[in-house]
Amino acid sequence: MQASIFRGYLLLLVWLVYVGVFSSRIQSVFSLEDVSSEPKIDVPLKKLRKYIQINTSNPSPKYEEAMDFLAAYASEIGLDFKVVRCAEGDPPTGIMTWKGQDPKVPSILLNSHTDVVPANAADWEFDPFNATLSVDKEGKSILVGRGSQDCKSLGIMYLEAIRNIIGLFPEGPQRTIQLSFVPDEETGGDRGLRCLAESPEFSKIFPNIGLVFDEGFLNDGNDILAFYSERVQRGFKITAKGNSGHASQFITDLATDKIMAFAAKARLFRFQENRRMENHGLQLGDVSTINLDIIKVGSALNVVPGVAEAWFDLRVTPLADIPSIEKMLFRWASESDVKLEFKKKDEPHSTNATSNAFWSSIQETANELNLPLKLAVFPAATDSRHLRKLGIPAIGLTPINQHPIQAHAIDESIRLKAFYKGIKFYTKLLPRLASFK
Ligand SMILES: [Zn+2]
Repeated sequence: MQASIFRGYLLLLVWLVYVGVFSSRIQSVFSLEDVSSEPKIDVPLKKLRKYIQINTSNPSPKYEEAMDFLAAYASEIGLDFKVVRCAEGDPPTGIMTWKGQDPKVPSILLNSHTDVVPANAADWEFDPFNATLSVDKEGKSILVGRGSQDCKSLGIMYLEAIRNIIGLFPEGPQRTIQLSFVPDEETGGDRGLRCLAESPEFSKIFPNIGLVFDEGFLNDGNDILAFYSERVQRGFKITAKGNSGHASQFITDLATDKIMAFAAKARLFRFQENRRMENHGLQLGDVSTINLDIIKVGSALNVVPGVAEAWFDLRVTPLADIPSIEKMLFRWASESDVKLEFKKKDEPHSTNATSNAFWSSIQETANELNLPLKLAVFPAATDSRHLRKLGIPAIGLTPINQHPIQAHAIDESIRLKAFYKGIKFYTKLLPRLASFK
């Protein structure tokens, strides 16, 4: 009896000490886990915030500051770094190299762009270049900032993945792995990757490329998307001529009627392509889009204009028969009595992704992380087109699924978990690529 009472007191005492001493600690542990709005600021996140805080939007992108940031980053991780410019006075491209042991095996290039599209701070909830940590509508921790999706996060994913694995290869990887941080992607790459890729220096800087990884899109669906091609741009202008005169009259043969006749055909095509996408569960890159973006007509309220013009942005899927789409446009033009001129005319260039030697490593990585991998056509344009044009295989891959798509949007943000998932993907993928012959 005595012994059991003593045991009872002892247990009570132990419990009181436990509660008194440790309860505050237990509480703080639980509160840390519960408060998703106060995520731990670790190295990758600090790096991404710093990168976003360097305003690289046009018209005055701080490219030199971005290069300083990247130079310090490379030396911290242990990569060689240099800056190249397409021509003197052109914006800088930062190049990092993790030298491989065997120069004969094809290398990997991890490309991303340093520029971002402009952001008007007045429209945003937070300063777009402050890189503010917040919580989205679903209670997920996010980092808000211009470039958080497109595509500064991708550059940091590559670098943090290399930081994670560099110690596994004390003698260096089997193949060379390089990173390029290119300017002016958002304005077409004319002073960035397009110009560099077409220069004789390119093959000296990047000898023997086996595969380029480039930006893709985050996906709001279940799959992660591997872009092997892009839609081609067929931007065009139509001009209509007709009778002009006093706006109080029934003037016939109107220029504006002709523009509207053409626009009606374009509108029907747009509707049909949209329906085709929805009815067949297709991606945007699998269909063509057309949008009337500019109309120029008229000078005064009481004057019927004799001339009118309209500009259309047409993006044709490479899965379509492009010459027959062009023929269709000229038929519409003739039926509507307008003159049609192309203002942008890209040619389709695709990478045969699944036959690439590195494809199985990408597929294995996706399988290991339980991420359904899907091939897709990029709906807009990326720098990959300048490389594919030269026959260099390029895959656009931002390995994030189930995430709102906000590239170029007001309040662009990335979920922290998704960002870490992206780092994990490349941390798993790169050793596979680095080591196999
Ligand atoms: Zn981009």
